[in-house]
Amino acid sequence: MSAVLSRHAARESLAVRIAVPAGVLFTAMASLATLLGIPPSEASERAALPAPAAAMALPTVEVVAEPAMDPCVDDAVVTALAAGDDAATVQAFGGGAEFQAAVVSGNAPCISLDDPHRTWVVVNKQRPLQPEHYAPASLAAIGLQATSRSNELRPEATAALEVMAAAAAEAGAGTIGINNGYRSFDVQTRTYGSHVRNKGQEGADAVSARPGFSEHQSGLAFDLIACSSRCGSHEVFGDTSQGSWVAENAWRHGFIVRYESGKTGTTGYAPEPWHIRYIGEQLAAAYHEGGFHSLEEFFGLPAAPDYVH
Ligand SMILES: [Zn+2]
Repeated sequence: MSAVLSRHAARESLAVRIAVPAGVLFTAMASLATLLGIPPSEASERAALPAPAAAMALPTVEVVAEPAMDPCVDDAVVTALAAGDDAATVQAFGGGAEFQAAVVSGNAPCISLDDPHRTWVVVNKQRPLQPEHYAPASLAAIGLQATSRSNELRPEATAALEVMAAAAAEAGAGTIGINNGYRSFDVQTRTYGSHVRNKGQEGADAVSARPGFSEHQSGLAFDLIACSSRCGSHEVFGDTSQGSWVAENAWRHGFIVRYESGKTGTTGYAPEPWHIRYIGEQLAAAYHEGGFHSLEEFFGLPAAPDYVH
């Protein structure tokens, strides 16, 4: 546990106040007077005074639970947030599990799961990008084989993906390529529109996000493919050695498989073993170690099976 968190824990200790009603205190003082040798006449005179009603009550012990320290006022958190350093922010909370616990318990008011600039943003069918035309401040080309022109991500996600692909190759799992990375609002409008033309709106919603609702627009999500002599389609990625390796090891590199089998009612999407989302190494480790299978559950958010309208 970090020093920061230890300080928080110390501040969370319970404060106990003992409230003694005035009449009881008075009686006790009279008895004390006797012990101290004050003339009994005087002491008994006082003791004979009509006891206030409160004297009949037993002393009460009032336990006051002081609210847990707000990590958001911690200097390290404030500094890391202001610098836009998401990894340092999570670290300042004490690590991924501590960050997640603070968010879920409502004790992290400075952390917005709506903020598209942050690696902890949650985008789903009930949580569009805000603003809906959001575009990342910078994008970096992914140095892997690509089967579309959508081959960029936010720089930290690109770097982590390249490291992951190298690790997969090293482990003998084969070559990983990229099908789609960042997609702008306009590209998503065209993608979704073509699905609607081919399948109708219901059919389109089953396979493609509406513009403004796609994780691809965050610059933190991408679709993988397996490449050997040539690259396959993303739909078969889950059945490849690369797909198995990614399912098991993506978390080590800061990624999660965003739409897992059995979680359609929570995520709103059929399983997509190819669709990977960057959340950073610390959060991905907490996600893995906590046994989570959807980002909604990880952050204690409501299920998002469908659009609101
Ligand atoms: Zn995708």
